[in-house]
Amino acid sequence: MNKYTHPQINTGMEINSETKILGIIGHPIKHSLSPVMHNVVFEKLKLNCVYLAFDVEKEKLGTTINSFGELNFLGLNATIPHKISVMKFLDKVSREARLIGAVNTIKFENGKAFGFNTDGIGCVKALEESGVRIKNKNILILGAGGAARAIAFQCLLEGADVSISNRTRENALELKEDIKRKLGKEIGVVDFNMRKEDLKGIDVIINATSIGMRPKTNSTPLNVSLLNPDIAVMDIVYNPIETKLLKDARRGGCKTVSGVGMLVHQGAESLRIWLGIKAPIEIMKKAVIGNLLD
Ligand code: NAP
Repeated sequence: MNKYTHPQINTGMEINSETKILGIIGHPIKHSLSPVMHNVVFEKLKLNCVYLAFDVEKEKLGTTINSFGELNFLGLNATIPHKISVMKFLDKVSREARLIGAVNTIKFENGKAFGFNTDGIGCVKALEESGVRIKNKNILILGAGGAARAIAFQCLLEGADVSISNRTRENALELKEDIKRKLGKEIGVVDFNMRKEDLKGIDVIINATSIGMRPKTNSTPLNVSLLNPDIAVMDIVYNPIETKLLKDARRGGCKTVSGVGMLVHQGAESLRIWLGIKAPIEIMKKAVIGNLLD
């Protein structure tokens, strides 16, 4: 067989006429860790697949999805700004993705494009892996953007009680209404300028805002004096790996969970959807962490 190893695609794999193509579409996409995280899996499991990053502008989204389907791509991840707008170009969307109102994983099969959302399940799996169970627990989610929505719906589907706190209160109220309409469940809305009483009974806090993300690493969404050691704190921001919020929480005696776990588990769930495999979590984590350390 005529095999060819592309010198610029560092998958460590040979690429040939049977290689299955996967990838991520976003704009911008240059800093995505997904290619590193997925290609290491293909290399370790000796799968004839490659995962690439595609910078796709909004106007070209529809033609991109159609063309990738025509070209027999196996699947795609979608990231900012395409998670919502891509839905109209898909043939069928999973229940979770419909609830959340966004898709981050697309599978092409028999000429059709199917949409899924693995962000929420990725977050819950990362918590569970760290020993934080959420069933019947009180979860406070900071943020009301795309990631917060995915996490809120998944936590509710898994039997947790949820409250939301967001800088723009209207966005939190909108999410509350959406949840009520779709699941018939009530969630709490907590003022973003929180007081200690607001955290009474809270078991887990999840930061799903972008506060604390590099380069603004001295920012935190929560005053450390509000925390107590009974609360587990997760930050879905993964760059830096230990955000100021997590540092404060760890020093305050709280159990902490970094955003790397969510990134890896949402990717592992995508791999399960595309290839039916149980992804090697530790290998993926190592690849991500190796590319985050500076
Ligand atoms: P998004 O849809 O743009 O939502 C951003 C959220 O952050 C909104 O709730 C926004 O509040 C809030 N926010 C932004 N800047 C703020 C500030 N200065 N003060 C207070 N609140 C602020 O973004 P997203 O897709 O949900 O992503 C949120 C973060 O999660 C990003 O850092 C992203 O990298 C990370 N993420 C991580 C993973 C993972 O796998 N670990 C997955 C997805 C996302 P307003 O409503 O008031 O604007």
